Amino acid sequence: MRYDAIVIGAGNGGLTSALLLSKQHKKVLLLDASFHEGGSFQSVLQGRFEFDFNSTDLMSFGDEEHHGKIYELFSSLQLLDKIHACKIDSALCVYVEQTQYEVPSNPEKFLLKMAEYVKDSKEKMSSFLDLCRECAQALDDVIKEVPYEKIEKKYPKFIEVCKDSCQTVMKNQQIPKLIQEILSAFCIYYGNTSTDLAFVTFASYLMDYLEYGYWALENGHYEIQLLLQEELQKNAGDVYFGSAVTHVQFEDGLYQMTLEDGRVFVSPYVIGDISPTIFYTQLLDEKNTTRAMYQLSNARTMGESVFTLCVGLNRGSEALGLFYDRYLFANAFASEKKEKMLSSFSLNVDRRQKKTTILTITAPISSEIYCRFLKDNPYDEVTLSLERQLLEEIEKALGVNLMDAIEELEVVTPVMMASHNLHPNGTVYGYLQKGYDNFLPRFLSWKEEQYLPHLYFCGASSCYCMDTSQYLSGEYVALQVLKEMEGDVDDEESK
Ligand SMILES: Cc1cc2nc3c(=O)[nH]c(=O)nc-3n(C[C@H](O)[C@H](O)[C@H](O)COP(=O)(O)OP(=O)(O)OC[C@H]3O[C@@H](n4cnc5c(N)ncnc54)[C@H](O)[C@@H]3O)c2cc1C
Repeated sequence: MRYDAIVIGAGNGGLTSALLLSKQHKKVLLLDASFHEGGSFQSVLQGRFEFDFNSTDLMSFGDEEHHGKIYELFSSLQLLDKIHACKIDSALCVYVEQTQYEVPSNPEKFLLKMAEYVKDSKEKMSSFLDLCRECAQALDDVIKEVPYEKIEKKYPKFIEVCKDSCQTVMKNQQIPKLIQEILSAFCIYYGNTSTDLAFVTFASYLMDYLEYGYWALENGHYEIQLLLQEELQKNAGDVYFGSAVTHVQFEDGLYQMTLEDGRVFVSPYVIGDISPTIFYTQLLDEKNTTRAMYQLSNARTMGESVFTLCVGLNRGSEALGLFYDRYLFANAFASEKKEKMLSSFSLNVDRRQKKTTILTITAPISSEIYCRFLKDNPYDEVTLSLERQLLEEIEKALGVNLMDAIEELEVVTPVMMASHNLHPNGTVYGYLQKGYDNFLPRFLSWKEEQYLPHLYFCGASSCYCMDTSQYLSGEYVALQVLKEMEGDVDDEESK
């Protein structure tokens, strides 16, 4: 059967791009190897708890008056009335060297709070936020393809720092050491460190948090994914689960896609919500594969996977002493444990139920390190020991007693994640953003990296790897595809 576009993978990116195309009356097919939508964002029922194996917050949201890109996306999809989120002012707490620091989600309050922690820091931090704001705006203009000359003129400070890491810029700006440590914790959202993560990526994320606030989802991401899928089907899109693509061949302007069970679909447009590495090295027919594709696949380093622990507690969050929605632990664990542990992690506290609490603890870890743990110890022992150490660290740091309130516990290891989301090494953050291979150069060169016509990638491994939840990557790619489809029609008409 022939479609206008086929999307491989029903993660957040794939769902969004498929829906946007179908809303423009394109005949779309969405395929996923798994038996449900969501990809890396998953939820499972465990006893009386519904665990979301990710966060329950929504970045870049905001409200009617002052809204971010995700708000605009859901508004354009007419889904806003179905997405319920609640703004939380004191949502985030960073834990550094045995002390908790609150990070308010508002620029003025943020400056005042930092000045409480480091006296006389307000002026310095205020100009630092100006720099972050300039970088975030410049990135938006880069994405909108504003010509370089204009960007250079309008954003001189962005040009100065755009090649530097988060750590380098904070050092050069002489940000007080403690505030550097507090802010570095934000890199955990990208499964990265301040030494590696590009400053502009960090700046954009920080400004999203400060300007649009922290929004806790009342319905989880899985409900958003269901909404996207239902809307797609209402728009005559086909969605097939349990449908792994095993072979793709490009011939005479058409992609022929073969599934594991032998079914074949064709389309002139393909969007992969999967890693280009997998697409080029495992799915694409040898006849279509070029040296450049292998070079790209080898040149990029896979990002981190995650060790995730979901814990259902039989007491409300306040009774347990957990007053924030999100705790970030930067460089946790005493030095003798560091070699053997995950050094940074985040703790998401789901406080929607009054009498129970769900904790999601996410520690980015490469599958390489995880497998090193496994070399010396049996799988169960490694998992149990990581679980115990994470919980102990949280108890010690926050002075709370979790162990006695545990009713259910579920774990996802990098090995499980790899078999679940089918990304190399189970990465959930796409390729690692490191040194010169970070968002900006990747974004600027994505058209050169389009090695076959009408072939696009969305999601965590795509050129638009800014938005951690990946809805926006799907939107960006769908708009590119629509533009190209319009160009095809114009070409046909002019013939
Ligand atoms: C524990 C955890 C915590 C996280 N925390 C946050 C957070 O706090 N904030 C945030 O924004 N992000 C967070 N993330 C990251 C976020 O979940 C991912 O970046 C995002 O979901 C990735 O979406 P994606 O569009 O890249 O697709 P993915 O979710 O990677 O989905 C890809 C889909 O493609 C399918 N597929 C692969 N190969 C094939 C094939 N050959 N044929 C058919 N289908 C195929 C897979 O089955 C999968 O469903 C977290 C992730 C995890 C796991």
